[in-house]
Amino acid sequence: MTAYDVVVVGAGPNGLSAGIVLAREGLDVLVVEASDTPGGGVRSEALTLPGFLHDTCAAILPMAAGSPFLAELPLRDHGLEWIHPPFPLAHPLDEGRCTVLHRSLEETARWLGVDGDVWKQLLAYPEDAWPDFAGDVLGPLLRWPSHPVRLARLGLQGLRPASTLLRRRFATDEARALLAGCAAHSFLSLDRALTAAVGLVLAGAAHGVGWPLVRGGSGRLTEALVAHLRALGGEIQTGWRVGNLDELPPSRATFLDLTPRQVVTVASGRLPERYLRRLRRFRYGPGAFKIDWALDGPVPWLARDCGRAGTVHLGGTLREIEEAERAPWEGRVAERPFVLFAEPSRFDASRAPDGKGVGWGYCHVPHGWDGDPGLVVDRIEAQVERFAPGFRDRILARSVRTPSALEAANPNLVGGDINGGVQDLLQLLARPVFAWNPYSTPSEGLYICSSSTPPGGGVHGMCGYHAARAALRRVFR
Ligand SMILES: Cc1cc2nc3c(=O)[nH]c(=O)nc-3n(C[C@H](O)[C@H](O)[C@H](O)COP(=O)(O)OP(=O)(O)OC[C@H]3O[C@@H](n4cnc5c(N)ncnc54)[C@H](O)[C@@H]3O)c2cc1C
Repeated sequence: MTAYDVVVVGAGPNGLSAGIVLAREGLDVLVVEASDTPGGGVRSEALTLPGFLHDTCAAILPMAAGSPFLAELPLRDHGLEWIHPPFPLAHPLDEGRCTVLHRSLEETARWLGVDGDVWKQLLAYPEDAWPDFAGDVLGPLLRWPSHPVRLARLGLQGLRPASTLLRRRFATDEARALLAGCAAHSFLSLDRALTAAVGLVLAGAAHGVGWPLVRGGSGRLTEALVAHLRALGGEIQTGWRVGNLDELPPSRATFLDLTPRQVVTVASGRLPERYLRRLRRFRYGPGAFKIDWALDGPVPWLARDCGRAGTVHLGGTLREIEEAERAPWEGRVAERPFVLFAEPSRFDASRAPDGKGVGWGYCHVPHGWDGDPGLVVDRIEAQVERFAPGFRDRILARSVRTPSALEAANPNLVGGDINGGVQDLLQLLARPVFAWNPYSTPSEGLYICSSSTPPGGGVHGMCGYHAARAALRRVFR
């Protein structure tokens, strides 16, 4: 077999990013991918009917748009185009009420009325200085930040549970629900430490860089990354599911865009038992239950502003979202799940035939949940129907993916966990193990670069970037 400087296992956004960082230093890079196409959680397919294009996994990409590493790359030259809907986020409540997260901090504060000043206090820093902020939050926690005072301010508020922060600081249902929905992206129960930080970072990203989608589908981001990697001389081989590292061509460094469970399987012969034990202790969280819909027209929202927002959070009040996010941790599917919903066809005509539309949505269910899919489909659609009566009548077809179906399509999605493992305080510090350099392993030249390393889940490529930089310092100097 041809020898390479670097072999990367897994062509998700982090694997591709690691490959790009190394290829642009002139190293020979091969990326090996199990699926027939690269992309991992960033791909688009006709999942329902011909002519309807769905984002198979990730659809709304604030962390990609705000990633300091991706911003360095000429992805626009390779066809990447961001679409910013008029509002990043809408959060409807009953009786046609609706809160909107605007790009502008001032506009959002005005909308929130009596809670506007507190919103401004909590979120002013990310709006002012997203690039500095992103560099600090999208990296390993165990290092000296570039802006320690500002980060400490976020930490003071963010280390608290979202439930506590929101009740103490906000007076209205609207403001509480708006930030609770952002905090619920953590997949944690909202009474857990750090959930406030997730809410603040995501809402801050909306003010700092927006919550955009990609024209032509998220898969276009993967195509742009692949085109750039190839332009740098990198190679990609698809349809090769690596069972053991011994299968790979010789290389000076190997990067695994895999979560700890798979690292243990493919690399056990190269890693000491002590380290393998630590990887086996890594915890996975609740699963996602995803539906993609082909629709016979736009979603008939009661609140018009929902139709102008890239993302719509369907979960009602803070109290309801708390219950919905507690349920998966107690082994239950919530009666009224918190649903993350998007309707990309509103803003991108290429997603569906004229007059038709596509919907994208998921909720959180217990880890590996394997019950009757019809139950969750019903509960998710009831939440959409609650805020958009007549939604069900517009469904032409749906594609449903349970946690086990997600894992079957991508073994990184263990039990349906889309974040590469629980993202609580402990596992942000110990990701995948507690170490000053969490990307390297005890085996010389073997690195982990998936979302199971800092900064964790989401499409940003920063895990791959930091892992590759660590190898440049150590292996390639
Ligand atoms: C349903 C869903 C919705 C999501 N929505 C969003 C969103 O809106 N916004 C957002 O920012 N993030 C979202 N995410 C999360 C995001 O997709 C992930 O955090 C991100 O893709 C992680 O990137 P990664 O490179 O670490 O791993 P992955 O994207 O999982 O890529 C890993 C790759 O490795 C390959 N692989 C695995 N095992 C092997 C093997 N043994 N041999 C060879 N190849 C292998 C896999 O096939 C895969 O291509 C979503 C994820 C899912 C599943």
